[in-house]
Amino acid sequence: MRLSRYLLPVTKEAPAEATVISHQLMLRAGMIRQGSAGIYSWLPLGFKVLKNIEQIVREEMNRAGAIELLMPTLQQADLWRESGRYDAYGPEMLRIEDRSGRDLLYGPTNEEVITDIFRAYVKSYKQLPLNLYHQQWKFRDETRPRFGVMRGREFLMKDAYSFDVDEASARIAYQKMFASYLNTFNRLGVTAIPMQADPGPIGGDLSHEFIILAETGESAVFCDKALMDVPVPGVGFDFEDHAALAAEMEKRTQYYAATEEKHDEAAFKAIPEDRQIAARGIEVGHIFYFGTKYSKPMKAEIQTAEGGLTEIHGGSYGIGVSRLVGGIIEASHDEKGIVWPASVAPFDVGLMNLRASDEACTTACDEAYQRLENAGFDVLYDDRDERPGGKFATMDLIGLPWQLAIGPRGLKAGTVELKRRATGETEELSLDAVLNKLTGDQV
Ligand code: ATP
Ligand code: MG
Repeated sequence: MRLSRYLLPVTKEAPAEATVISHQLMLRAGMIRQGSAGIYSWLPLGFKVLKNIEQIVREEMNRAGAIELLMPTLQQADLWRESGRYDAYGPEMLRIEDRSGRDLLYGPTNEEVITDIFRAYVKSYKQLPLNLYHQQWKFRDETRPRFGVMRGREFLMKDAYSFDVDEASARIAYQKMFASYLNTFNRLGVTAIPMQADPGPIGGDLSHEFIILAETGESAVFCDKALMDVPVPGVGFDFEDHAALAAEMEKRTQYYAATEEKHDEAAFKAIPEDRQIAARGIEVGHIFYFGTKYSKPMKAEIQTAEGGLTEIHGGSYGIGVSRLVGGIIEASHDEKGIVWPASVAPFDVGLMNLRASDEACTTACDEAYQRLENAGFDVLYDDRDERPGGKFATMDLIGLPWQLAIGPRGLKAGTVELKRRATGETEELSLDAVLNKLTGDQV
């Protein structure tokens, strides 16, 4: 993409209303534009990151055996009356009436709709286990939308729902999501620690929030530092190996980790002092088992092996896809701007023409652009006739993993300058060597 043809409205200063660094950087990097409070347009650069996160989440959900579908944003109030949540949900729910006077609502979550789909088509234990998910916009009329996309009113969530014949198999469904989330967040380039969370009225031990540690996080969290060193299950993990699933959870739950609601000061103090982390965190995922909470009132029943009928046991598993864009920046930035993990970066390489008025320089840049694109890299090519200082500042701000600067001085010596954004380390190389190096980095 040539920057001269792109829409990248970067600014030097952040508007005063942006109080956290990720919000400031997203505005300065021209990633989002606010409509009303907590409602954003995703500008081209921001949209690319959102799509990259969505794609990684999709791949990891599929790998764990979940199946994607898409439910609407507008839901029938009647389904929520059936579950008993229509009145219970409160003012966070945006209620809408259509022209024929039917009550609708903009979904804040999807348990009712998915349960309705389930009961329409699934009648036998033979069709289970089943895990269905989608990535769809939600609306919650939050009292205090703030921190940019991290607490929006309209936000993109991945929500998965598992259906099982009994609690024992629902536990396996839960463990699959637990393991899958570890891989997902790892691929997104962040450390998200699973912490005991409030399971709500159902009780039990099956509720975890996945938390990125950050000073600006809204939750107070407590955990054992040892948790940070437990390796993730990894790409080859077998989600059908039940012993391995249980082990992945056990490896982590043996260490103390809890959100404020579940915090036990005595248990925390029992951790060796140098391993006690009392910090703030951002909730980027939440998984929990809720048993028959929806299947009972909504009569989602299936035939059992013995020939009887039983209410299914459910769980739900959320990831804050749009919140993650801010969350990743909170975890990965420096004083110059964003430092994207390569997996979610909006482009792979930022190519800069340091003297667009110079014909030889422009020819060399055009060639580099072509060759990089042909090699499969997504390149943002700053081809504008502007001063190098501003170009470097923009590239640092938007945080692409690699920067390639081409100017007349280097060209005389047959070299271009390659910089790795994360470390700031630069090298003078031939274009061939750059392509080799980046290709090697890709695999
Ligand atoms: P919070 O405690 O932050 O209000 P929640 O517990 O109400 O979140 P869940 O119902 O668990 O949220 O939703 C699943 C995920 O959706 C959360 O883990 C979070 O990452 C994301 N999410 C929830 N509310 C918002 C919001 N207002 N803006 C952006 N993302 C959100
Ligand atoms: Mg939650």
